[in-house]
Amino acid sequence: MLYDWSLASANTPFAIQIEFTNDLATRAYQWLQKLDRTKVLHLGAASYVVPSSEPKMDTSLWVQYYHSMSWNSYGEFIDWLNSVRLVDFSSLTPPLFCSCKYGLKEYSCIHSLGLIMMWDHRKVPQALGIRRGKGRPKKVKLALTKD
Ligand SMILES: [Zn+2]
Repeated sequence: MLYDWSLASANTPFAIQIEFTNDLATRAYQWLQKLDRTKVLHLGAASYVVPSSEPKMDTSLWVQYYHSMSWNSYGEFIDWLNSVRLVDFSSLTPPLFCSCKYGLKEYSCIHSLGLIMMWDHRKVPQALGIRRGKGRPKKVKLALTKD
């Protein structure tokens, strides 16, 4: 047993990068299709603000509160807190930071992955992207010829 244990770290080393599962990629792509891209705001450095699933306020108003920090009540603060997700790309490579519960726990969520897709840094899953139709691709005709 001790022998197995001593070899375990050599055979299965620590993960040094996050694996995005296809399921997450699919959900991130779906999220991206519904996302109003004008609501994605650059907060500063490598930080971005994206609307949450149930926003109580617009992202631009959210940023105003972010700078002023002038909430009138705890309830108002909670509404503000839950209105957006804060995504941070300052580490350049995964793990990426997102303030949603999945981002905090698993370092990979639809928001961070969705933004990466939006910037074309990561390919859309094949099953969801534009696929070629059935059969052979159409033969490309010479220019200036008639059918
Ligand atoms: Zn997230």
